[in-house]
Amino acid sequence: MGNVTISPAVCGLALLFLMLGACTSNPSPTTHARHPSTAKASAPSTSTKVSASAPVAIGVPTFIYHSVFGRSVQGQALVMFRMGPLNAHRRILVVGVIHGNETAGRSIARDLLLTSATATTEVVVVPDLSPDGSVLETRQNARAVDLNRNFPYRWKSLGRRGDMQYSGTGPLSEPESQAMVALIRRLRPTVSVWFHQSLDVVDELGGSVVVESRFANILGLPLLRMRRYNGSAASWENTSFLGTTAFVVELPRRESASLVTKVMRALKDLEH
Ligand SMILES: [Zn+2]
Repeated sequence: MGNVTISPAVCGLALLFLMLGACTSNPSPTTHARHPSTAKASAPSTSTKVSASAPVAIGVPTFIYHSVFGRSVQGQALVMFRMGPLNAHRRILVVGVIHGNETAGRSIARDLLLTSATATTEVVVVPDLSPDGSVLETRQNARAVDLNRNFPYRWKSLGRRGDMQYSGTGPLSEPESQAMVALIRRLRPTVSVWFHQSLDVVDELGGSVVVESRFANILGLPLLRMRRYNGSAASWENTSFLGTTAFVVELPRRESASLVTKVMRALKDLEH
């Protein structure tokens, strides 16, 4: 969508459904708030086009804000969506993609945005924290850094450029991890879910085991304590914000409708 000029409203709808992260006509961080029904009225052609490609339409969110909270190495927008009451005591963060070659969580994030918000919980969705990696279809970002080794949690130098788990030149050396840390510090989510692939497991990472096991049970996946990786985003959250819970969901390699249904049920369960 590089040179196409689009209005904020149309851009918002396009972002909602396509997760393009490419409001390139507006280079500075922006926030838009809009009601879905208004957007449909103002952008009928876009609405028709993208709705046809949406696999699951579960409901209609009451209100969605989206904003650009940072930029990738290659200048792509890092986009978040907020649905539900902004002053909620409970806030759920869902990160669809942090490794660009593990993209199943992105369609789940999209489906989540089509659900109805609750009155008591705000849901914050970051469909893709590594848009450059997604374009390149690589685990790492455009500077070959594994973003999930670049957070401040026990950061240490791992590998070198070109290695699968290269941790970068220092903690938060990458614009994507910098932006995410700033966002989490600002929003302080109660529960954060980070989607990965493809180990078929929910990783018990130091938050509430009750929350993690409920999620795993609904998905029908085992809850296992895996290695606490240096520089991990979820471990950084768990050790930085006591009383909150961040965990990793390793989705299966193959996406299926039944899996998406279970994941959606588990995510909605977190809101109560
Ligand atoms: Zn991963």
